[in-house]
Amino acid sequence: MTLKSKEPIAGRKPSDDAYRLLFEAAAIGINWSEPDGRLIEANQHFCALVGYEHDELMSRRVEDITHPDDVAEDRRQIARLLSGACSSYIVEKRYVRKDGTVIPARTTSSLMRGRSPRRIAVVEDLRPQLKAMNAQRESAARLKSILDAVPDAMIVIDERGAIETFSPSAEAMFGFSAAEVVGQNVNILMPSPYREQHDGYLERYRKTGERHIIGIGRVVTGQRKDGTTFPMELSVGEAIAGDARRFTGFVRDLTERERSERRIDQLQAELMHVARLGELGQMGAALAHELNQPLAAIVNYLLAARRLLQSVPEAPARIGEAMEKAAAQADRAGQVIRRLREFVARGETERREENVNALIEEAAALALVGAKSAGVTTRLMLRPDLPLVLVDKVQIQQVLLNLIRNALEAMDSSDERVLTVEAAAADGMVTVTVADTGPGLSAEVAQNLFQPFVTTKARGMGVGLSICRSIIEAHGGRIWASPRTGGGTNFAFTVPFELRGQP
Ligand code: ADP
Repeated sequence: MTLKSKEPIAGRKPSDDAYRLLFEAAAIGINWSEPDGRLIEANQHFCALVGYEHDELMSRRVEDITHPDDVAEDRRQIARLLSGACSSYIVEKRYVRKDGTVIPARTTSSLMRGRSPRRIAVVEDLRPQLKAMNAQRESAARLKSILDAVPDAMIVIDERGAIETFSPSAEAMFGFSAAEVVGQNVNILMPSPYREQHDGYLERYRKTGERHIIGIGRVVTGQRKDGTTFPMELSVGEAIAGDARRFTGFVRDLTERERSERRIDQLQAELMHVARLGELGQMGAALAHELNQPLAAIVNYLLAARRLLQSVPEAPARIGEAMEKAAAQADRAGQVIRRLREFVARGETERREENVNALIEEAAALALVGAKSAGVTTRLMLRPDLPLVLVDKVQIQQVLLNLIRNALEAMDSSDERVLTVEAAAADGMVTVTVADTGPGLSAEVAQNLFQPFVTTKARGMGVGLSICRSIIEAHGGRIWASPRTGGGTNFAFTVPFELRGQP
Protein backbone atom coordinates (compact mmCIF):
# COMPACT_ATOMS: atom_id res chain seq x y z
CA MET A 1 0.00 0.00 0.00
CA THR A 2 1.39 3.41 -0.86
CA LEU A 3 0.71 6.53 1.07
CA LYS A 4 -0.71 9.07 -1.31
CA SER A 5 -1.11 11.95 1.01
CA LYS A 6 1.74 13.60 2.86
CA GLU A 7 -0.62 15.82 4.75
CA PRO A 8 0.08 16.01 8.45
CA ILE A 9 -2.22 13.82 10.41
CA ALA A 10 -2.63 16.38 13.15
CA GLY A 11 -6.15 17.35 13.89
CA ARG A 12 -7.77 14.10 13.05
CA LYS A 13 -7.56 10.52 14.07
CA PRO A 14 -5.60 8.43 11.59
CA SER A 15 -8.48 7.09 9.64
CA ASP A 16 -6.22 5.85 6.92
CA ASP A 17 -5.86 2.07 7.14
CA ALA A 18 -2.12 2.09 6.75
CA TYR A 19 -1.62 4.60 9.51
CA ARG A 20 -4.01 2.74 11.73
CA LEU A 21 -2.22 -0.52 11.06
CA LEU A 22 1.21 0.90 11.70
CA PHE A 23 -0.02 2.68 14.74
CA GLU A 24 -1.58 -0.38 16.31
CA ALA A 25 1.13 -2.83 15.29
CA ALA A 26 4.00 -0.69 16.61
CA ALA A 27 5.92 -2.44 19.37
CA ILE A 28 6.25 0.87 21.13
CA GLY A 29 3.73 2.99 23.01
CA ILE A 30 2.23 5.95 21.11
CA ASN A 31 -0.30 8.49 22.30
CA TRP A 32 -1.83 11.77 21.31
CA SER A 33 -2.86 14.47 23.70
CA GLU A 34 -4.36 17.94 23.72
CA PRO A 35 -2.11 20.81 24.85
CA ASP A 36 -3.85 20.59 28.24
CA GLY A 37 -2.75 16.96 28.55
CA ARG A 38 -6.08 15.26 27.80
CA LEU A 39 -5.39 11.98 25.99
CA ILE A 40 -7.23 11.60 22.73
CA GLU A 41 -5.68 8.48 21.29
CA ALA A 42 -3.30 5.72 22.33
CA ASN A 43 -2.24 2.51 20.66
CA GLN A 44 -2.58 -0.97 22.19
CA HIS A 45 1.02 -1.05 23.26
CA PHE A 46 0.67 2.12 25.27
CA CYS A 47 -2.59 0.91 26.86
CA ALA A 48 -0.88 -2.33 27.85
CA LEU A 49 2.11 -0.44 29.18
CA VAL A 50 0.06 1.64 31.58
CA GLY A 51 -2.48 -1.09 32.26
CA TYR A 52 -5.66 0.70 31.19
CA GLU A 53 -8.41 -0.17 28.74
CA HIS A 54 -8.39 2.13 25.74
CA ASP A 55 -11.64 3.84 26.67
CA GLU A 56 -10.63 4.31 30.29
CA LEU A 57 -7.50 6.04 29.16
CA MET A 58 -9.35 8.45 26.89
CA SER A 59 -11.02 10.13 29.84
CA ARG A 60 -7.68 10.81 31.53
CA ARG A 61 -4.88 13.29 31.22
CA VAL A 62 -1.18 12.52 30.79
CA GLU A 63 -0.64 13.96 34.26
CA ASP A 64 -2.98 11.36 35.76
CA ILE A 65 -0.71 8.57 34.65
CA THR A 66 2.58 10.36 35.33
CA HIS A 67 4.55 9.89 38.54
CA PRO A 68 3.83 12.93 40.78
CA ASP A 69 7.53 13.80 40.96
CA ASP A 70 7.79 14.00 37.17
CA VAL A 71 4.69 16.13 36.50
CA ALA A 72 6.42 19.51 36.88
CA GLU A 73 9.18 18.61 34.45
CA ASP A 74 6.60 17.29 31.97
CA ARG A 75 4.71 20.56 32.12
CA ARG A 76 7.84 22.60 31.64
CA GLN A 77 8.76 20.64 28.53
CA ILE A 78 5.26 20.92 27.04
CA ALA A 79 5.35 24.67 27.58
CA ARG A 80 8.64 24.81 25.68
CA LEU A 81 7.16 22.73 22.89
CA LEU A 82 4.06 24.91 22.61
CA SER A 83 6.08 28.11 22.66
CA GLY A 84 8.14 26.85 19.77
CA ALA A 85 11.37 26.79 21.82
CA CYS A 86 11.89 23.24 20.51
CA SER A 87 10.26 20.99 17.98
CA SER A 88 10.59 17.85 20.03
CA TYR A 89 12.09 16.67 23.26
CA ILE A 90 13.16 13.45 24.91
CA VAL A 91 12.75 12.80 28.61
CA GLU A 92 13.10 9.84 30.89
CA LYS A 93 10.06 9.81 33.11
CA ARG A 94 7.98 7.47 35.18
CA TYR A 95 4.42 6.43 34.42
CA VAL A 96 2.12 5.05 37.09
CA ARG A 97 0.11 2.04 35.98
CA LYS A 98 -3.50 1.53 36.93
CA ASP A 99 -2.40 -1.05 39.52
CA GLY A 100 0.00 1.50 41.04
CA THR A 101 3.28 0.07 39.75
CA VAL A 102 5.75 2.61 38.48
CA ILE A 103 7.32 2.17 35.06
CA PRO A 104 10.43 3.94 33.87
CA ALA A 105 10.11 5.07 30.25
CA ARG A 106 11.78 7.20 27.64
CA THR A 107 9.32 9.55 25.96
CA THR A 108 9.96 11.40 22.72
CA SER A 109 7.38 14.17 22.29
CA SER A 110 6.76 16.30 19.22
CA LEU A 111 4.19 18.91 18.41
CA MET A 112 1.91 18.50 15.46
CA ARG A 113 0.81 21.91 14.43
CA GLY A 114 -2.47 22.51 12.72
CA ARG A 115 -5.75 24.13 13.56
CA SER A 116 -5.53 22.64 17.00
CA PRO A 117 -2.04 21.51 17.95
CA ARG A 118 -1.50 18.07 19.39
CA ARG A 119 1.35 16.45 21.21
CA ILE A 120 2.36 13.05 19.96
CA ALA A 121 4.43 10.99 22.34
CA VAL A 122 6.38 7.84 21.54
CA VAL A 123 6.94 5.90 24.74
CA GLU A 124 9.62 3.29 25.21
CA ASP A 125 9.48 0.96 28.20
CA LEU A 126 12.87 1.11 29.93
CA ARG A 127 12.30 -1.88 32.20
CA PRO A 128 13.99 -4.50 30.00
CA GLN A 129 16.96 -2.22 29.56
CA LEU A 130 17.20 -1.50 33.29
CA LYS A 131 16.79 -5.16 34.06
CA ALA A 132 19.61 -6.06 31.72
CA MET A 133 21.74 -3.31 33.20
CA ASN A 134 21.03 -4.48 36.72
CA ALA A 135 21.75 -8.07 35.79
CA GLN A 136 25.02 -6.99 34.26
CA ARG A 137 25.91 -4.90 37.28
CA GLU A 138 24.96 -7.73 39.58
CA SER A 139 27.02 -10.28 37.74
CA ALA A 140 29.97 -7.90 37.63
CA ALA A 141 29.64 -7.37 41.39
CA ARG A 142 29.35 -11.10 41.95
CA LEU A 143 32.43 -11.76 39.85
CA LYS A 144 34.31 -9.05 41.71
CA SER A 145 33.36 -10.49 45.08
CA ILE A 146 34.52 -13.91 43.97
CA LEU A 147 37.78 -12.58 42.63
CA ASP A 148 38.34 -10.54 45.77
CA ALA A 149 37.85 -13.64 47.86
CA VAL A 150 40.15 -15.87 45.82
CA PRO A 151 43.51 -15.94 47.56
CA ASP A 152 45.21 -16.19 44.17
CA ALA A 153 46.34 -12.99 42.55
CA MET A 154 44.65 -12.16 39.27
CA ILE A 155 46.32 -10.27 36.47
CA VAL A 156 44.70 -9.55 33.12
CA ILE A 157 46.92 -8.55 30.21
CA ASP A 158 46.15 -7.64 26.63
CA GLU A 159 47.56 -9.32 23.58
CA ARG A 160 50.79 -7.35 23.74
CA GLY A 161 51.39 -8.02 27.42
CA ALA A 162 50.18 -4.70 28.84
CA ILE A 163 48.57 -5.11 32.26
CA GLU A 164 44.86 -4.20 32.32
CA THR A 165 43.76 -5.49 35.72
CA PHE A 166 45.81 -6.08 38.84
CA SER A 167 43.83 -7.55 41.73
CA PRO A 168 44.26 -6.60 45.42
CA SER A 169 45.90 -9.99 46.09
CA ALA A 170 48.31 -9.27 43.24
CA GLU A 171 49.15 -5.96 44.89
CA ALA A 172 49.91 -7.77 48.15
CA MET A 173 51.91 -10.47 46.41
CA PHE A 174 54.09 -8.32 44.16
CA GLY A 175 54.26 -5.16 46.26
CA PHE A 176 53.12 -2.96 43.36
CA SER A 177 49.90 -0.95 43.48
CA ALA A 178 47.50 -1.44 40.59
CA ALA A 179 48.00 2.19 39.59
CA GLU A 180 51.74 1.60 39.25
CA VAL A 181 51.49 -1.35 36.93
CA VAL A 182 48.32 -0.94 34.86
CA GLY A 183 49.42 -0.18 31.30
CA GLN A 184 52.93 -1.51 31.91
CA ASN A 185 54.35 -4.66 30.36
CA VAL A 186 53.67 -7.71 32.52
CA ASN A 187 57.32 -8.67 32.20
CA ILE A 188 58.14 -6.29 35.07
CA LEU A 189 56.79 -9.06 37.32
CA MET A 190 59.42 -11.52 36.12
CA PRO A 191 63.15 -11.76 36.71
CA SER A 192 65.65 -12.00 33.88
CA PRO A 193 65.96 -13.87 31.57
CA TYR A 194 62.16 -14.40 31.40
CA ARG A 195 61.66 -10.65 31.43
CA GLU A 196 63.41 -10.28 28.11
CA GLN A 197 61.84 -13.38 26.60
CA HIS A 198 58.19 -12.78 27.46
CA ASP A 199 57.31 -10.52 24.51
CA GLY A 200 58.73 -13.20 22.25
CA TYR A 201 56.49 -15.85 23.85
CA LEU A 202 53.42 -13.71 23.26
CA GLU A 203 54.35 -13.05 19.68
CA ARG A 204 55.03 -16.68 18.96
CA TYR A 205 51.66 -17.59 20.39
CA ARG A 206 49.96 -14.95 18.22
CA LYS A 207 51.62 -16.37 15.14
CA THR A 208 51.55 -20.11 15.76
CA GLY A 209 48.77 -20.58 18.33
CA GLU A 210 51.12 -22.99 20.06
CA ARG A 211 50.27 -23.26 23.71
CA HIS A 212 53.00 -23.48 26.29
CA ILE A 213 51.25 -22.31 29.39
CA ILE A 214 47.64 -21.46 28.54
CA GLY A 215 45.30 -23.93 30.17
CA ILE A 216 48.24 -25.91 31.53
CA GLY A 217 49.64 -24.11 34.55
CA ARG A 218 53.25 -24.07 35.62
CA VAL A 219 55.52 -23.27 38.48
CA VAL A 220 57.53 -20.18 37.55
CA THR A 221 59.49 -17.46 39.30
CA GLY A 222 57.98 -14.09 40.05
CA GLN A 223 59.71 -10.88 41.01
CA ARG A 224 58.41 -8.40 43.55
CA LYS A 225 58.77 -4.64 43.39
CA ASP A 226 61.72 -4.81 45.78
CA GLY A 227 63.53 -7.17 43.38
CA THR A 228 63.13 -10.30 45.52
CA THR A 229 61.93 -13.40 43.72
CA PHE A 230 59.55 -16.14 44.77
CA PRO A 231 58.20 -19.41 43.40
CA MET A 232 54.68 -19.13 42.08
CA GLU A 233 52.14 -21.32 40.41
CA LEU A 234 50.75 -19.65 37.32
CA SER A 235 47.69 -20.67 35.36
CA VAL A 236 46.66 -18.68 32.34
CA GLY A 237 43.32 -18.51 30.59
CA GLU A 238 42.52 -16.84 27.31
CA ALA A 239 39.45 -14.79 26.48
CA ILE A 240 38.58 -13.60 23.01
CA ALA A 241 35.94 -10.90 22.71
CA GLY A 242 35.44 -9.54 19.23
CA ASP A 243 38.89 -8.82 17.85
CA ALA A 244 40.50 -8.37 21.21
CA ARG A 245 42.37 -11.17 22.89
CA ARG A 246 43.12 -11.09 26.58
CA PHE A 247 44.99 -13.36 28.95
CA THR A 248 44.03 -13.85 32.56
CA GLY A 249 46.70 -15.13 34.89
CA PHE A 250 46.02 -16.60 38.31
CA VAL A 251 49.07 -16.60 40.53
CA ARG A 252 49.56 -18.49 43.74
CA ASP A 253 52.53 -17.73 45.92
CA LEU A 254 54.17 -21.03 46.73
CA THR A 255 56.35 -19.67 49.52
CA GLU A 256 53.12 -19.01 51.35
CA ARG A 257 51.95 -22.55 50.67
CA GLU A 258 55.21 -24.07 51.82
CA ARG A 259 55.00 -22.01 54.96
CA SER A 260 51.42 -23.06 55.67
CA GLU A 261 52.20 -26.68 54.92
CA ARG A 262 55.01 -26.52 57.45
CA ARG A 263 52.65 -24.92 59.95
CA ILE A 264 50.06 -27.65 59.43
CA ASP A 265 52.72 -30.33 59.95
CA GLN A 266 53.78 -28.61 63.12
CA LEU A 267 50.20 -28.33 64.36
CA GLN A 268 49.61 -31.97 63.59
CA ALA A 269 52.73 -32.97 65.49
CA GLU A 270 51.56 -30.90 68.47
CA LEU A 271 48.14 -32.47 68.31
CA MET A 272 49.61 -35.95 68.19
CA HIS A 273 51.75 -35.10 71.19
CA VAL A 274 48.73 -33.92 73.17
CA ALA A 275 46.79 -37.00 72.09
CA ARG A 276 49.63 -39.26 73.18
CA LEU A 277 49.81 -37.56 76.56
CA GLY A 278 46.09 -37.98 76.97
CA GLU A 279 46.30 -41.60 75.94
CA LEU A 280 49.17 -42.23 78.32
CA GLY A 281 47.18 -40.76 81.18
CA GLN A 282 44.18 -42.79 80.21
CA MET A 283 46.30 -45.88 79.84
CA GLY A 284 47.65 -45.22 83.31
CA ALA A 285 44.09 -45.13 84.57
CA ALA A 286 43.23 -48.34 82.74
CA LEU A 287 46.33 -50.06 84.10
CA ALA A 288 45.62 -48.81 87.59
CA HIS A 289 42.13 -50.20 87.33
CA GLU A 290 43.48 -53.58 86.32
CA LEU A 291 46.41 -53.69 88.78
CA ASN A 292 44.50 -52.54 91.80
CA GLN A 293 42.57 -55.75 92.19
CA PRO A 294 45.51 -58.20 92.07
CA LEU A 295 47.46 -55.93 94.43
CA ALA A 296 44.62 -55.89 96.92
CA ALA A 297 44.45 -59.66 96.63
CA ILE A 298 48.20 -59.98 97.27
CA VAL A 299 47.90 -57.86 100.42
CA ASN A 300 45.03 -60.03 101.63
CA TYR A 301 46.82 -63.31 100.90
CA LEU A 302 50.00 -62.13 102.63
CA LEU A 303 48.15 -60.99 105.72
CA ALA A 304 46.24 -64.28 105.82
CA ALA A 305 49.49 -66.23 105.43
CA ARG A 306 51.03 -64.22 108.23
CA ARG A 307 48.10 -64.99 110.51
CA LEU A 308 48.43 -68.69 109.60
CA LEU A 309 52.16 -68.58 110.35
CA GLN A 310 51.51 -67.15 113.81
CA SER A 311 49.54 -70.29 114.66
CA VAL A 312 52.54 -72.51 113.77
CA PRO A 313 54.68 -72.53 116.99
CA GLU A 314 58.06 -73.38 115.47
CA ALA A 315 57.78 -71.00 112.47
CA PRO A 316 60.76 -68.62 112.24
CA ALA A 317 59.76 -65.06 113.17
CA ARG A 318 61.74 -63.66 110.23
CA ILE A 319 59.41 -65.22 107.68
CA GLY A 320 56.50 -63.45 109.34
CA GLU A 321 58.37 -60.16 109.31
CA ALA A 322 59.21 -60.56 105.62
CA MET A 323 55.55 -61.23 104.87
CA GLU A 324 54.51 -58.20 106.82
CA LYS A 325 56.97 -56.08 104.89
CA ALA A 326 55.78 -57.57 101.58
CA ALA A 327 52.16 -56.75 102.52
CA ALA A 328 53.15 -53.19 103.45
CA GLN A 329 54.92 -52.76 100.11
CA ALA A 330 51.97 -54.18 98.15
CA ASP A 331 49.69 -51.85 100.06
CA ARG A 332 51.95 -48.95 99.22
CA ALA A 333 51.93 -49.91 95.53
CA GLY A 334 48.13 -49.96 95.75
CA GLN A 335 48.11 -46.47 97.22
CA VAL A 336 50.42 -45.16 94.52
CA ILE A 337 48.12 -46.61 91.91
CA ARG A 338 45.00 -45.23 93.58
CA ARG A 339 46.62 -41.84 93.67
CA LEU A 340 47.50 -42.17 90.00
CA ARG A 341 43.90 -43.00 89.21
CA GLU A 342 42.63 -40.08 91.21
CA PHE A 343 45.12 -37.81 89.53
CA VAL A 344 44.12 -38.92 86.06
CA ALA A 345 40.44 -38.84 86.88
CA ARG A 346 40.57 -35.42 88.50
CA GLY A 347 43.55 -34.00 86.63
CA GLU A 348 42.32 -32.64 83.37
CA THR A 349 38.63 -33.16 83.32
CA GLU A 350 36.59 -30.07 83.01
CA ARG A 351 32.89 -30.58 82.59
CA ARG A 352 30.70 -28.05 80.93
CA GLU A 353 27.32 -28.02 79.30
CA GLU A 354 27.94 -29.14 75.75
CA ASN A 355 25.89 -29.59 72.62
CA VAL A 356 26.19 -33.24 71.59
CA ASN A 357 25.58 -32.48 67.92
CA ALA A 358 28.48 -30.05 67.81
CA LEU A 359 30.71 -32.58 69.59
CA ILE A 360 29.83 -35.22 67.02
CA GLU A 361 30.26 -32.95 64.02
CA GLU A 362 33.71 -31.87 65.14
CA ALA A 363 34.90 -35.31 66.11
CA ALA A 364 33.63 -36.82 62.86
CA ALA A 365 35.40 -34.15 60.83
CA LEU A 366 38.64 -34.81 62.70
CA ALA A 367 38.33 -38.57 62.37
CA LEU A 368 37.62 -38.37 58.65
CA VAL A 369 40.87 -36.57 57.93
CA GLY A 370 43.23 -39.02 56.30
CA ALA A 371 43.31 -41.92 53.92
CA LYS A 372 41.19 -44.32 55.96
CA SER A 373 38.05 -42.39 55.12
CA ALA A 374 38.49 -42.64 51.34
CA GLY A 375 35.38 -44.09 49.76
CA VAL A 376 33.38 -43.94 52.98
CA THR A 377 29.92 -42.42 53.04
CA THR A 378 29.30 -40.65 56.29
CA ARG A 379 25.82 -40.09 57.65
CA LEU A 380 25.36 -37.89 60.69
CA MET A 381 21.84 -38.40 61.98
CA LEU A 382 21.62 -35.63 64.52
CA ARG A 383 18.61 -34.16 66.23
CA PRO A 384 18.55 -30.43 66.63
CA ASP A 385 16.49 -30.62 69.83
CA LEU A 386 18.92 -32.69 71.93
CA PRO A 387 19.37 -31.42 75.48
CA LEU A 388 22.80 -30.20 76.60
CA VAL A 389 24.98 -32.69 78.44
CA LEU A 390 27.44 -31.97 81.23
CA VAL A 391 30.67 -33.53 79.99
CA ASP A 392 34.36 -33.04 79.43
CA LYS A 393 34.30 -32.19 75.76
CA VAL A 394 37.83 -33.40 74.97
CA GLN A 395 37.25 -36.75 76.65
CA ILE A 396 33.92 -37.42 74.95
CA GLN A 397 35.43 -36.43 71.62
CA GLN A 398 38.26 -38.84 72.30
CA VAL A 399 35.68 -41.59 72.73
CA LEU A 400 33.96 -40.57 69.50
CA LEU A 401 37.25 -40.36 67.66
CA ASN A 402 38.20 -43.80 68.86
CA LEU A 403 34.90 -45.38 67.88
CA ILE A 404 34.89 -43.69 64.47
CA ARG A 405 38.51 -44.65 63.73
CA ASN A 406 37.77 -48.25 64.73
CA ALA A 407 34.72 -48.21 62.46
CA LEU A 408 36.74 -46.84 59.52
CA GLU A 409 39.47 -49.40 60.09
CA ALA A 410 36.91 -52.19 60.30
CA MET A 411 35.49 -51.16 56.90
CA ASP A 412 38.89 -51.04 55.26
CA SER A 413 38.25 -54.07 53.09
CA SER A 414 34.44 -53.91 52.92
CA ASP A 415 32.63 -53.30 49.66
CA GLU A 416 29.96 -51.23 51.31
CA ARG A 417 31.44 -48.50 53.49
CA VAL A 418 28.88 -46.49 55.37
CA LEU A 419 29.60 -44.79 58.66
CA THR A 420 26.56 -43.65 60.60
CA VAL A 421 26.67 -41.56 63.74
CA GLU A 422 23.34 -41.10 65.41
CA ALA A 423 22.27 -39.24 68.53
CA ALA A 424 19.02 -39.54 70.43
CA ALA A 425 17.71 -38.69 73.88
CA ALA A 426 15.58 -40.84 76.19
CA ASP A 427 15.16 -41.43 79.93
CA GLY A 428 17.56 -38.73 81.03
CA MET A 429 20.31 -40.02 78.76
CA VAL A 430 21.67 -39.04 75.39
CA THR A 431 22.65 -42.12 73.39
CA VAL A 432 25.23 -41.83 70.66
CA THR A 433 25.64 -44.73 68.24
CA VAL A 434 28.52 -45.21 65.83
CA ALA A 435 27.63 -47.84 63.24
CA ASP A 436 29.78 -49.37 60.52
CA THR A 437 29.32 -51.86 57.70
CA GLY A 438 32.50 -53.78 58.54
CA PRO A 439 32.85 -57.52 59.22
CA GLY A 440 31.46 -57.32 62.77
CA LEU A 441 33.07 -58.60 65.97
CA SER A 442 34.39 -62.12 66.37
CA ALA A 443 32.97 -63.97 69.39
CA GLU A 444 36.38 -64.00 71.01
CA VAL A 445 36.96 -60.26 70.69
CA ALA A 446 33.37 -59.50 71.68
CA GLN A 447 33.80 -61.27 75.02
CA ASN A 448 36.75 -59.18 76.16
CA LEU A 449 36.05 -56.12 74.07
CA PHE A 450 36.51 -53.47 76.73
CA GLN A 451 39.50 -55.12 78.44
CA PRO A 452 42.87 -53.47 77.89
CA PHE A 453 45.33 -55.04 75.44
CA VAL A 454 42.67 -56.83 73.42
CA THR A 455 43.51 -56.22 69.80
CA THR A 456 43.39 -57.94 66.44
CA LYS A 457 45.47 -55.29 64.71
CA ALA A 458 49.13 -55.74 63.86
CA ARG A 459 49.91 -52.29 65.20
CA GLY A 460 47.02 -51.97 67.64
CA MET A 461 47.52 -51.33 71.33
CA GLY A 462 44.10 -52.58 72.32
CA VAL A 463 43.61 -49.87 74.90
CA GLY A 464 41.20 -47.64 72.94
CA LEU A 465 37.99 -49.27 74.02
CA SER A 466 39.07 -49.73 77.64
CA ILE A 467 39.84 -46.02 77.77
CA CYS A 468 36.44 -45.30 76.22
CA ARG A 469 34.82 -47.36 78.91
CA SER A 470 36.61 -45.61 81.77
CA ILE A 471 35.71 -42.19 80.34
CA ILE A 472 32.06 -43.06 79.79
CA GLU A 473 31.69 -44.73 83.19
CA ALA A 474 33.33 -41.74 84.88
CA HIS A 475 30.60 -39.64 83.24
CA GLY A 476 27.90 -41.89 84.70
CA GLY A 477 27.12 -43.54 81.38
CA ARG A 478 27.44 -46.93 79.76
CA ILE A 479 29.14 -48.23 76.61
CA TRP A 480 28.38 -51.41 74.69
CA ALA A 481 28.64 -53.03 71.29
CA SER A 482 26.07 -55.02 69.34
CA PRO A 483 25.86 -56.54 65.88
CA ARG A 484 24.30 -54.26 63.29
CA THR A 485 21.33 -55.57 61.32
CA GLY A 486 22.60 -56.13 57.79
CA GLY A 487 26.22 -56.62 58.91
CA GLY A 488 28.74 -54.54 60.77
CA THR A 489 28.86 -53.30 64.34
CA ASN A 490 27.02 -50.72 66.43
CA PHE A 491 28.96 -49.11 69.24
CA ALA A 492 26.76 -47.11 71.55
CA PHE A 493 27.34 -45.05 74.65
CA THR A 494 25.19 -42.95 76.92
CA VAL A 495 25.83 -39.81 78.91
CA PRO A 496 23.26 -38.36 81.28
CA PHE A 497 21.84 -34.90 80.75
CA GLU A 498 20.86 -32.56 83.53
CA LEU A 499 17.19 -31.77 83.55
CA ARG A 500 16.50 -28.10 83.09
CA GLY A 501 16.18 -26.21 86.36
CA GLN A 502 18.25 -28.72 88.31
CA PRO A 503 21.68 -27.79 89.60
P1 ADP B 1 42.89 -51.18 68.84
O1 ADP B 1 42.07 -50.41 67.88
O2 ADP B 1 44.20 -50.56 69.17
O3 ADP B 1 43.01 -52.63 68.48
P2 ADP B 1 40.56 -50.98 70.59
O4 ADP B 1 40.44 -51.21 72.06
O5 ADP B 1 40.07 -49.69 70.08
O6 ADP B 1 42.11 -51.14 70.25
O7 ADP B 1 39.85 -52.14 69.81
C1 ADP B 1 40.04 -53.47 70.24
C2 ADP B 1 39.65 -54.45 69.15
O8 ADP B 1 38.23 -54.44 68.99
C3 ADP B 1 40.18 -54.12 67.78
O9 ADP B 1 41.48 -54.65 67.58
C4 ADP B 1 39.17 -54.82 66.87
O10 ADP B 1 39.48 -56.19 66.71
C5 ADP B 1 37.89 -54.77 67.66
N1 ADP B 1 37.01 -53.70 67.15
C6 ADP B 1 36.86 -52.46 67.65
N2 ADP B 1 35.95 -51.77 66.95
C7 ADP B 1 35.52 -52.58 65.96
C8 ADP B 1 34.56 -52.43 64.89
N3 ADP B 1 33.89 -51.30 64.69
N4 ADP B 1 34.36 -53.50 64.08
C9 ADP B 1 35.04 -54.65 64.28
N5 ADP B 1 35.94 -54.84 65.25
C10 ADP B 1 36.19 -53.83 66.09
